[in-house]
Amino acid sequence: MNHFHAVDGTLFCEGVALETLADRHGTPLYVYSRAAIEEAFSAYQTALAGHDHLICYAVKANSNLAVLGLLAELGAGFDIVSIGELERVLAAGGDPGKVVFSGVCKNRADMLRALQAGIHCFNVESEAELETLAAVARENDLIAPVSLRVNPDVDARTHPYIATGLKDNKFGIAIDAALPLYNRAADLPGIRPIGLDCHIGSQILAIEPFAEALDHLVRLVDQLQDQGISLQHIDVGGGLGVSYQGETVPAVADYVAALTEPLAGHNLTLILEPGRSIVANGGVLLTRVEYLKPGRHKNFALVDAAMNDLLRPALYGAWQDIVAVAPSQAEATTWDIVGPVCETGDFLGHARELALTSGDILAVMGAGAYGFTMASNYNSRPRPAEILVDLDCSHVVRERESLQQLWAGEATLPGKPR
Ligand SMILES: *Cc1c(COP(=O)(O)O)cnc(C)c1O
Repeated sequence: MNHFHAVDGTLFCEGVALETLADRHGTPLYVYSRAAIEEAFSAYQTALAGHDHLICYAVKANSNLAVLGLLAELGAGFDIVSIGELERVLAAGGDPGKVVFSGVCKNRADMLRALQAGIHCFNVESEAELETLAAVARENDLIAPVSLRVNPDVDARTHPYIATGLKDNKFGIAIDAALPLYNRAADLPGIRPIGLDCHIGSQILAIEPFAEALDHLVRLVDQLQDQGISLQHIDVGGGLGVSYQGETVPAVADYVAALTEPLAGHNLTLILEPGRSIVANGGVLLTRVEYLKPGRHKNFALVDAAMNDLLRPALYGAWQDIVAVAPSQAEATTWDIVGPVCETGDFLGHARELALTSGDILAVMGAGAYGFTMASNYNSRPRPAEILVDLDCSHVVRERESLQQLWAGEATLPGKPR
């Protein structure tokens, strides 16, 4: 069900009109639907019900405490890439025993904190990282549960910036180097190899690349078994795409079926790390049209949200739908929707057919994933507030940043006036 829906041209999130939220809380404003996020997570749970599994939501997609809290309550585990994300998970009531720790460059302090918290598994990406983790664990009389992230060299056919499973990406260990490294891991005091993982990219719209990657992983698990190293889980990462522009997206049930079928007969827990597919379509970014600047060659609508609030269009040329939240009397024409930041790359959408008047509120759809989490303070712009709608109620789950927060922790030189 679509939890962002229009009634007579007025756009609602669940039972709350988006224009009301923009008026009450100002813009730019992120708005999330509790029901949409819960439904997306439940689709994974339902599909995986017959198989030993752990769904580790990728925190980097949307790390608001309220979102993490909702998912924790539903039984989610978490895929983290930093200690900041671990602390967020713990603050939101998440279970450290369901956390997997990804990332190419974990340092000793990260490792120690995660060991002490008792996370489920470290997804290790290099031999050097493995040796460091072993040392940290040994020094502290702890054992690090480990999975090696292998690079299956499959082409996920997605944007080059979000393809991670090719052999020339910085991620993972070449799959043919994994066998000797598992043997090394099995010999290392302080290390217990428990799993094998990969993550081939993001916004992937076909099932085949996942199935192909899994095939490589299962073969490796069998080889390891023959050498006396028996693993407990396979982690296929995240990456299932969502529909931003009417793309056909594999159903979660079909995606999961393609992953569980090859595991039949293996006594392996399946771990998934979905991020985008849980939250992307559960959120929008609201922005106000400040000025219209029609021209001979192009019409610009200057809005109060910018690339610092929503980076995906500027970073990847990503297309996200932009719609008016209320009916308009104006005539529709073609607009470039651009923000106040001083960069030509600062746009939310090019050549959009919209009926606009200054003061109108627009919603950028599909902004629940990699939206707020990629926001910055570039141009000294405070980051937006975040709202979580639950039926007829809306909750401020993050206040708008204040101007003072922009320079908190900074100082002028001694003796200089401030
Ligand atoms: C980013 C990432 C994910 C989540 O990817 P989505 O495309 O958002 O599902 C999962 N695992 C790892 C290791 C990642 O880096």
